[in-house]
Amino acid sequence: MENKKYALVTGGSRGIGRAICLELSQMGYCVIVNFRDNAAAANETLKMITEQDGKGELMQCDVSDANAIDAALGQWEETHPDCFVEVLVNNAGIRQDNLLIFMQDSQWHDVLDTTLNGFFYITRRLLKGMLTHRYGRIVNVASLSGLKGLPGQCNYSAAKAALIGATKALAQEVAPRRVTVNAVAPGFITSDMTKDLDEASLKKMIPANRFGKPEEVAAAVAFLASDKAAYITGEVISINGGLYT
Ligand code: NAP
Repeated sequence: MENKKYALVTGGSRGIGRAICLELSQMGYCVIVNFRDNAAAANETLKMITEQDGKGELMQCDVSDANAIDAALGQWEETHPDCFVEVLVNNAGIRQDNLLIFMQDSQWHDVLDTTLNGFFYITRRLLKGMLTHRYGRIVNVASLSGLKGLPGQCNYSAAKAALIGATKALAQEVAPRRVTVNAVAPGFITSDMTKDLDEASLKKMIPANRFGKPEEVAAAVAFLASDKAAYITGEVISINGGLYT
């Protein structure tokens, strides 16, 4: 019987997700690195895990596609009959910014489908194992945009605010079974998602006077995923260099 402990990180191929994969691997988890398209980046994450003597697996699937998730997780369960995923980090996300008056249906739906439906499909599927084993950690990667609302991001703000609402509701449903559900709300973090932003001018409004690093988000996620955070649930931790929310 396999006795590895598993963690799944959606969107683990790049940016914040990659940093989270590396942290969880250092905590002793075998990390399932989910990605959508970028196999080269996902393989690089896996290589970095291996280089730090960790273990990992790749799982390609679009988190907004319920059938794809069922197929990928069903296959994983078949090949790992004695295991369950005890840490789930819902990190996959996209931006499709536009002023609401110009926003296309696809921009609205793609962002909501990835962040919110992705959370729903994967979490529902993996929750059973956590509840049965009476242990689990779910960490949802929300955003400052979901707390404060940012112009040009009605779709993204709505998706992240909804994710925070779901975090708080689910936390209360599953707390009796020792499963915690929390969120982090990063501000501006250096990654592919923010590479088109003007850091030089934006950093002037951040008290820390810089963008954050993916590792700085990953450290908070790792704490929430640890045993030490057992009494923290339904919480949202801002990681934003003091940017007022
Ligand atoms: P990123 O560098 O653009 O990486 C996005 C990741 O999500 C990639 O691994 C990508 O996979 C994956 N992904 C996107 N759509 C997916 C889908 N449908 N199914 C599966 N995987 C999918 O973004 P990031 O900056 O690291 O952001 C990570 C999370 O943090 C997101 O939820 C984002 O909203 C949130 N966040 C970011 C910031 C920031 O300033 N960067 C601030 C607040 C919140 P592929 O590599 O295959 O494309």
